[in-house]
Amino acid sequence: ASLANLDVPAQATNRVQDRSTPAAIIGDRPFNNVADTDPAIGENRTWGRAILARSGGSQLGVETVTAGAVSTTEQMKSILESTTAAGRRWGAMPAAERAAILHRAGDALENSRARLIEVMANEAGKTIAEGDVEVSEAIDFAHYYAERSLDLEKIEDATFVPSGLIVVTPPWNFPVAIPAGSVLSALASGSGVIIKPAKLSQRSAAVMIEALWEAGVPRDVLTFVDLKDRELGRVMIADPAVDRVILTGAWETAAMFRSWRNDLPILAETSGKNAIIVTPSADLDLAVADVTKSAFGHAGQKCSAASLVILVGSVGKSERFERQLIDSVRTLRVGLPQDPLTTMGPIVEPAQGKLLGALTTLAPGESWLVKPRQLDDEGKQWTPGVRTGVVPGSEFHMTEYFGPVLGIMRAKNLTEAIEMQNAVDYGLTAGIHSLDPTEVARWLDEVQAGNAYVNRGITGAIVRRQPFGGWKRSAVGCHAKAGGPNYLMTLGQWKAVEQPA
Ligand code: GLU
Repeated sequence: ASLANLDVPAQATNRVQDRSTPAAIIGDRPFNNVADTDPAIGENRTWGRAILARSGGSQLGVETVTAGAVSTTEQMKSILESTTAAGRRWGAMPAAERAAILHRAGDALENSRARLIEVMANEAGKTIAEGDVEVSEAIDFAHYYAERSLDLEKIEDATFVPSGLIVVTPPWNFPVAIPAGSVLSALASGSGVIIKPAKLSQRSAAVMIEALWEAGVPRDVLTFVDLKDRELGRVMIADPAVDRVILTGAWETAAMFRSWRNDLPILAETSGKNAIIVTPSADLDLAVADVTKSAFGHAGQKCSAASLVILVGSVGKSERFERQLIDSVRTLRVGLPQDPLTTMGPIVEPAQGKLLGALTTLAPGESWLVKPRQLDDEGKQWTPGVRTGVVPGSEFHMTEYFGPVLGIMRAKNLTEAIEMQNAVDYGLTAGIHSLDPTEVARWLDEVQAGNAYVNRGITGAIVRRQPFGGWKRSAVGCHAKAGGPNYLMTLGQWKAVEQPA
């Protein structure tokens, strides 16, 4: 329904790509990541502006949200039962048939590119470019997991047995890619799925789900719920019908789920406190650009975002890096995504608690290199902040803020820098900028993070190429990586059968 009233084309225009050499072979089949919209093509800029001109009050996805409203325990129990039953039927289908539907789901998401970008701009303050890469990631998940599911049924003598029911609880910061990745993996594994999107970005998830239903994923296999209160969430998570929960969110949420049901099989991608090291051998121009992008993309609201930069030796002694960083950060233009000149959108909820503290107060030893300013009355639009002099072991060193604020630390040498980088509780992403192969090799050996990036930004993992997921408190339960080869294997159980003739 919502496609019809969209007066801009559903997809952008891209140059024809040469697919003669696939990016990868899965089984014996080619796999390619889809292309993001190319802003160098004039039509695409017009297309993007048309989307933004429409956005601002759109009601997209509201039907799904209304239909998913759950307000009583009885309703919740009946959804758990019906989705499990439908999930068992789905799991009994030949894998190839399910995979064909998931490939169609990828195509349907491509056809929904414009409306997904629109609803993400509205709900999550994403710029066109930020929304666009997210749609690409969702499409990649569909095709990737579809292919992976074909290799899943048997490994040596053990057979994969799908779960009946997987519950998915995604976050608001990637309102399309993360729910899509979680739901599509669960479907590819042959399970029924209940998705409870984050309240702040329900409509983005709803538009994504509608695309999957339109592509042929049965509505009873994939159930969307909008829970009236937390107690219903507890009823859902604690129910023994739930075989797995895929959570992306705070570490504390994973702990709460565990407290509701201590034997809960959970796959959780949780928080991060990520640093980029810059050594004297680095290309400083590149480092400054990558740090800026990693720290302030989507206003820092990514688990993968750079929250610290650690300057090694002479980089921290001269003023050059900091001067360049000031220039780079000051060129960010803060505003709403509806303004095409915006390069850093708003934060999704008004700054409060720890984040508000990090935007407004300094600890001993720290000073502002770029002082954040609040631009609106509500407290959602903040200019980016950079503080220098962050002391090892201090609160800023250790805390995840999930907002547009970056801290600079200084280390004598690489050893000390790696110690600072590894000292945090989390281990999601990490970066180094160094042109010295010995330094890089040593760092790769010692860094404690699930995603280690050399001489590039530390956000924006690409399906298959950079399977995503962390160590330490950045994961709870299973440590398989999203968008990687071992993920589906963890979503069911394995049965090894030995039967003498
Ligand atoms: N996968 C995203 C990235 O690589 C981060 C996901 C998250 O913030 O949870 O940037």
